[in-house]
This record gives sequence, C-alpha cells and structure tokens, in this order.
Amino acid sequence: MKIIDMHCDTIGSLFALKERGEAQARSLRRNSGHIDLMRLRESHYLIQNFAMFVPLSGCDDPWERVCAMYRCYQEELERNQDILAPVFCYRDIAQNEAAGKVSSLLTVEEGAVCRGEAEKLRELYRMGVRMITLTWNFDNEIGHPNFDSGLREKMEAAMKAWKALEEGTVQQNQLYTVQQEQLHTVQQEQLHRAEWEEARLAAQAAYDVYMHTPNLTGGLTEKGIELVAEMENLGIIPDVSHLSDAGFYNVLEVTKKPFVASHSDARAVCPNVRNMTDDMIAKLSERGGVMGLNFCADFLEEKPLGEENPGTIAAVVRHAKHIVNAGGIDVLGLGSDYDGIPTHSELPGAQSMGRLWDALRGAGFSEGELDKIFYGNVLRVYRDTLG
Ligand SMILES: [Zn+2]
Repeated sequence: MKIIDMHCDTIGSLFALKERGEAQARSLRRNSGHIDLMRLRESHYLIQNFAMFVPLSGCDDPWERVCAMYRCYQEELERNQDILAPVFCYRDIAQNEAAGKVSSLLTVEEGAVCRGEAEKLRELYRMGVRMITLTWNFDNEIGHPNFDSGLREKMEAAMKAWKALEEGTVQQNQLYTVQQEQLHTVQQEQLHRAEWEEARLAAQAAYDVYMHTPNLTGGLTEKGIELVAEMENLGIIPDVSHLSDAGFYNVLEVTKKPFVASHSDARAVCPNVRNMTDDMIAKLSERGGVMGLNFCADFLEEKPLGEENPGTIAAVVRHAKHIVNAGGIDVLGLGSDYDGIPTHSELPGAQSMGRLWDALRGAGFSEGELDKIFYGNVLRVYRDTLG
C-alpha cells in the first residue's frame, strides 16, 4: 500500500514550537503529533506534502516568515536524509522510492507570502515549492477565501456573548449554594438558563451562517489571475482549498493544466464551505485534477456547538463515496490536514492509513480503486504538472 498525502501542517507546528523555544519537545523524525518520519517510513508513504502555513494574523511580513520556515524545513531535510528526500520534478519521485526514501513535496499555504510579486513566485519555485494554496481564510493579493470576514466577526461576537453567560451562570450557582437560599437559586438558575439558551441559539445561528455561506462573487483579483498563470508556467500547482467558490471558477478559466483542492471534502455531505460542491468536484475531475480527503471532524460531520466532534472513519467513507459518485474514481486523493486539525479519534495519525484502507475496502471500493485514491490519482497530477 503506497500513500500520497497532499496536505499536513507538521512543518508549521514544528516551526511554531521552535519559535517558542520548545523545539526539543518535537522533532520531525519522531514525535507525538500526527505525523513523523518514522511513521511515514513504516507506513510506506510514497510522498508527504509539507505545507509552510503562514498565518496572517499578527504577522508583519509573510515573506520573511515563509523564508524562516523554509530554513527550518531545510534543517530537517538535512538531518533526516536517510529517510526523506525532496521532490523537484516528477522523476525524483521514482528515484527516491528506489532509494528507499519517502519523498517530500514542499508547499505553501497562504498565497500572501508572494506579496503579489511574480518574482517571489519564482523564488519559491527555486526553493522547491511545487504547490501553493492560494488563500487561507483571509483575503490576500491573489483572491478571496470562502469565509466572509464580516460574518466571522458576527459569529465571534455571538460566541463570546454565549461563553460569557456560561461563566456567569457558573458563578451565580456558586454564590447560591447555601440551603436557605435554595428557592432563590432555582429562580436565578432558571433566569440564567433562559438567557444562556438564547445566547447559545444566537451563537449557533451566527456560526451556521458563517460556515454555510460561500463567497460567490469575490474570486481572484487581477493580480491573482496573473500569478496563477505564472504558477502554471513555472510548474507550481494551484491549490484551491480555502479559496472562494467564485475563485474556484476563476482558476478553472485561467488555467489549462490540472490543479488541486489539496484538503477539502464534499459539501453535499457536510455543508461547511471549506468543502466542494458537486459541480466543483465534477469540473475539477473533467480537468484531470484531484481533491484530498480532509480528516478534520468539523468538515466531515457537523455537531451542535458545544458538543464534542471526535471524527469517525464512517464519515470519511461517506465523503469518499459521495465524491467518487460526483466526480468519478479519478478525482479523489488524500489530504489529511494532520497537525493542523484536532486529533481524530479513529484516525489518530500517519500510522492509521491501513485502517482507512480496510474501511473503504469494506465499503465496496476495489483494490484498484483504492490504489488510485491512496496515491495513483495524485501521482498522475504530479506527472502532468511538475515537469
Ligand atoms: Zn488549510
């Protein structure tokens, strides 16, 4: 069983720990997170994409930050040459495999690192970056994400109001625990419960609007159109995960080669706008592109606010079946989002891919189909795009 995973945040989380001086706590080679090199090797990974994710909040210079993260990635590559080898062109993949090594394909998650300059794209290409997620959840020079920042503010305010009441209720209860005050306590509690319930419903409503409203008008910017065309020229694969619906159709228009949604599920199964509509899945498939199953529980299945969402393999299987129905067997791949998502109770890390294989096999996928999902489809896209 070979595996290609199109997206993880392992380098980003390692870098964040380093910045806080906690690097010793975690190494790429062996750690207690979702992904480390020992487990990739043991689980026969052919390629792991490593994303340099640059969060824009609190970041003065995304370019400087991605360069610092790149140095961290380079150090890890040098330190772990016996297991890991970079991919710059398609034939590197087979060469690394023949040498018994896991291939590493470097990506960037947040197109803002380019600051709108084509020269920065060329520099990223020279560094070995072969895939760029055009936006994260913020607007940038390239385009707009599917999440609306105005709706986000409303949602955050409603959540805050709800949480504040929750704390208030607890304090009130503590105040009135004395026996003779019991009647008073009950009345207070009922009052607070009603208030609390109202706030909870308001938070749920604002959350649903935020999570379920795609951006249908704000797509790629003029500059974004230029940069995406340049990416295609260079051999950097545009990644539309996080991008708005409008942006997806812009990328479809502007490009000729296959592109990817590296870590997105199906919106028909779970209505979160991080997921792809059936039309997008079908169009991506017609183009010869591929999308990676994301294991983030909130993208797989929705639960009411405040309820735990541990993530199940059954939900991953539901998405896989739907995506294949909507776009055919050639459009599906893996994009775990490991080390960027809360731990998934049934797929806790890179060591769990055998369990996913078994579950999909049990759900009726043939071994040939599973080979396509686990590595074949993504490998085809790399063959068609990397040069
Ligand atoms: Zn992401």
